[in-house]
Amino acid sequence: MKIICVGRNYADHAKELGNDIPDEPVIFMKPKSALLQSHTPFYYPEFSNELHYECELVLRVCKNGKYIQERHASNYYNGITVGIDFTARDIQDELKKKGLPWEKAKAFDNSAAVGKFIDVTPAMNRKNIGFTFYKNKELVQTGNSGNMIFSIDALIANISNYFSLNIGDLIFTGTPAGVGECVVGDILEAFLEKDNLLTVEVK
Ligand code: ZN
Repeated sequence: MKIICVGRNYADHAKELGNDIPDEPVIFMKPKSALLQSHTPFYYPEFSNELHYECELVLRVCKNGKYIQERHASNYYNGITVGIDFTARDIQDELKKKGLPWEKAKAFDNSAAVGKFIDVTPAMNRKNIGFTFYKNKELVQTGNSGNMIFSIDALIANISNYFSLNIGDLIFTGTPAGVGECVVGDILEAFLEKDNLLTVEVK
């Protein structure tokens, strides 16, 4: 399996990091070794002094496909949850300045925390899925799929032009504004609507 991630998919977050609004989805990848399940401790990476959380909606791919049309995209995922795209912001800033790839800042071990999946039902309005993120019980991020620059189905279509989607792949769909630092001892909790699907302690 692979983990496909989308950057700058919410205008308010692109702005807070001083990035332009993209004309096309910004895509990067994390390897399988980046996966961290809920209630598994996350160890602060030794190479960073500025670790950020980015809470995101995460999709689970349920069908193999390539060149998927947007109107068929909803057949290709059947699970949704919240996840944390852990980012070594200090390393990413350095890499960005030099025009180098982001992997060291974004794709390190356990950098893709993924909550418990819930089934995507036909009744679910994909354009109105709310999520929230708490650091030490304080609300720090609020997102809604309706505010995405590229909708879930548009992302599936775009990604599949470049990368075949395979059953079990995960897609991190980008983070809204409110990203920030986390430190050892922090308790991070992510909610899809009212359900707490992910809890991570930073050790
Ligand atoms: Zn992200």
